[in-house]
Amino acid sequence: MKKLVVITGASSGFGMELAKEFAKDGYPMLLLARRVEKMEALNLPNTMCKKVDVTDKESFESAVREAEAQYGKTDLIINNAGVMLLGDLSVQDPKEWKRMLDVNVMGVMNGMQIVMNDMKERRFGTIINLSSIAGVKPFANHAAYCASKYGVAGLTEVVRGELSPYNVRTLYICPGAVSTELLGHTTDKNIIEGYEQWKESVGATNITANDVAKTIKYAYELPQAVSLRQIVITDTMQDA
Ligand code: NDP
Repeated sequence: MKKLVVITGASSGFGMELAKEFAKDGYPMLLLARRVEKMEALNLPNTMCKKVDVTDKESFESAVREAEAQYGKTDLIINNAGVMLLGDLSVQDPKEWKRMLDVNVMGVMNGMQIVMNDMKERRFGTIINLSSIAGVKPFANHAAYCASKYGVAGLTEVVRGELSPYNVRTLYICPGAVSTELLGHTTDKNIIEGYEQWKESVGATNITANDVAKTIKYAYELPQAVSLRQIVITDTMQDA
């Protein structure tokens, strides 16, 4: 039996593609998101689906412990759940900044803390966090989103150094623009339009969520001694 894979944000986009890819190879999985019905509809074998908000550490942890009781300890967690609420900082509602920082940063740290001590003890395991190309370089109207994704990059680098003596891998992936539900949550319609126009104008529309999922799975399936510390992946036509 393969080891347990935990995926947050598996109800759409990268997370859903990850769930499908890992299922093809028979991994037992715990899928987490708020829209549990979307994950259950996948009907994947050896899979537990739980309605969890990653900012609620208690329910996040109890879902992981329940899955571990059934499938054994977590060997991989993919802290993928995230939101992107683009906005001009001078006018954006601070509630949007808080939501991004809570989900994108606190949610990731919750996931890490829930599994890292067992991984240290077992001297084995992998943590993969979703940053973004907006965690590597700045983009207009991305101030708070960049803050959250540079945050993920920074905290992952720190923890990577702390876990490396225990043979635990800690990686982060920084995708460019990929069509998913992500942009749809931005409340400023002009920003959404501008973003879509830019993608179309440069032709950066061919990379898929499945390409990102396969890349993450590739990084995980490398030998434990091999750490792809940071992966930056974009559509070939993405110019920024
Ligand atoms: P989607 O919007 O398609 O998926 C986001 C997922 O996160 C959904 O499953 C959603 O589920 C879940 N989620 C959101 N908030 C919470 C929460 N509070 N608790 C639990 N789950 C939550 O976006 P993507 O697949 O594109 O994004 C996945 C990750 O990749 C994000 O971290 C994003 O920032 C990052 N990323 C995406 C890029 C892109 O261009 N698509 C580029 C770079 C990075 P539900 O609403 O059911 O809870």
